Amino acid sequence: QDFLQFGLDPRLLQAIQEMGYEKPTPIQCKAIPLVLEGKDMLAAAQTGTGKTAGFGLPALQNILKDANTSMSPARHPVRILVLSPTRELADQTAEALSNFAAKTPLRVGVVYGGVDIKPQIEQVRKGVEVLIATPGRLLDHLEQKSTNLNQVSIVVLDEADRMLDMGFLPDISRILNKLPKKRQNLLFSATFSLEIKKLAGNFLVDPVLVTV
Ligand code: AMP
Repeated sequence: QDFLQFGLDPRLLQAIQEMGYEKPTPIQCKAIPLVLEGKDMLAAAQTGTGKTAGFGLPALQNILKDANTSMSPARHPVRILVLSPTRELADQTAEALSNFAAKTPLRVGVVYGGVDIKPQIEQVRKGVEVLIATPGRLLDHLEQKSTNLNQVSIVVLDEADRMLDMGFLPDISRILNKLPKKRQNLLFSATFSLEIKKLAGNFLVDPVLVTV
């Protein structure tokens, strides 16, 4: 298996080569082609498996091929939204996605609670195509109108089981209700409780199940 097989944008390939990724991990081999096809996906994957590149690379590719993105350099609407349970995961994911996107014009931003909101407002107001957020703080930003989600085409619920454990379901539902109806949905969870299955049933359209 080789990263070349996926037909990724040369700018993404160059970035991951510089990051030292040589071969795709099992979750990447399964997830990348499905996400590139535009499918909704329910993936059982723990941290450490390479899941971030499994959704990040194809999601970036999907918005890069959108004429929209390259033709309006002056505007940077959020196109990819990643919801994370904790600020640590949000930070880690944002760092990985900015590394993947480093050779592209796409901008990556991250917002989470527990810190001053003002610098975050300034950052997201400038425009980011990729936004990683914890649910509560994202709702604060939406209330303050520092960003909006009208143009999101891909949404990722990362570590969804942890988000449910932390009581984020009402926040997640409010956020999902603000997204365009036509979009791609990806759900990652280490476990498959009844609650996760319910969330998947409500949120995913005709999903492909990926396990490793
Ligand atoms: P993740 O499960 O996404 O948190 O990734 C776990 C770690 O593996 C991170 O440090 C990644 O940078 C690294 N990683 C992910 N995919 C690959 C790959 N194909 N080759 C080498 N390292 C990788």
